[in-house]
Amino acid sequence: MKEKEQYIIPIFVPHLGCPNDCTFCNQKSISGQTKKVTKGEVKKTIEQYLKSFKEEDSYKEVAFFGGSFTGIEKEKQEELLQVAYQYVKDKKIDSIRVSTRPDYIDKERLKLLKKYGVKTIELGVQSTNDYILKKCRRGHTYEDVKRASKLIRRYRFELGHQMMIGLPESTKIDELNTARDLAKLKPKIVRLYPVLVIKNTELEKEYNAGEYEPLRVEQAVERCKELYYFFTRKKISVIRMGLQTTDLICSPENEKSEVVARTIS
Ligand code: SF4
Repeated sequence: MKEKEQYIIPIFVPHLGCPNDCTFCNQKSISGQTKKVTKGEVKKTIEQYLKSFKEEDSYKEVAFFGGSFTGIEKEKQEELLQVAYQYVKDKKIDSIRVSTRPDYIDKERLKLLKKYGVKTIELGVQSTNDYILKKCRRGHTYEDVKRASKLIRRYRFELGHQMMIGLPESTKIDELNTARDLAKLKPKIVRLYPVLVIKNTELEKEYNAGEYEPLRVEQAVERCKELYYFFTRKKISVIRMGLQTTDLICSPENEKSEVVARTIS
């Protein structure tokens, strides 16, 4: 039997005013947005995507990406979720997913996501090595990742993990160790993001000062390949490798690009 076509309706929710200070982050550039998303915009985006889908009998999912969804004010989360949930109730979309940080997961937040029919929660883990997490000022620890992952599974959400490749001082062994640690927490899906040096970040300063050297393209591909095989053997789906290309996140040769250096060839 032919598998159903799967469609994602991405809604970028930049975490403006995020109190964290990750050295690689310029949330404005990554999400391509500078202002808060409104419920009207969510509705408009969903409608536009629904019209563009070719297969009627497909699996459709609204995905709140681009920030730390459960870190934004509760009222704003509810405002956005209510819109998407109405489409689930009307059977026009099948599910909702959000991405967030491990330290923004607790019982209260999970109950709210449950109430609005969220199916999948993706955690930005980046690494399970506390030294590396501290070096890139993530502001959370491996312990937070374990606690959040267990709680998410206990509340019967589908768990996803996002990890980065080529963070400052991170070696291939560190990344394999992160993959092993994550596999023990039983995510259903994983995304792998090789580091990009983006304008107006602390990492850009480190790069310009010669303190950070990005991976070469071949190294990044090699590391992603090994991790891909590792997760696949564990029956964990790797659903993405590398950030989505946008007007701002593209080749450094493009004059509009906010990327200063990617893994260099
Ligand atoms: S990557 Fe870090 S600084 Fe950027 S929005 Fe997420 S938590 Fe905040």
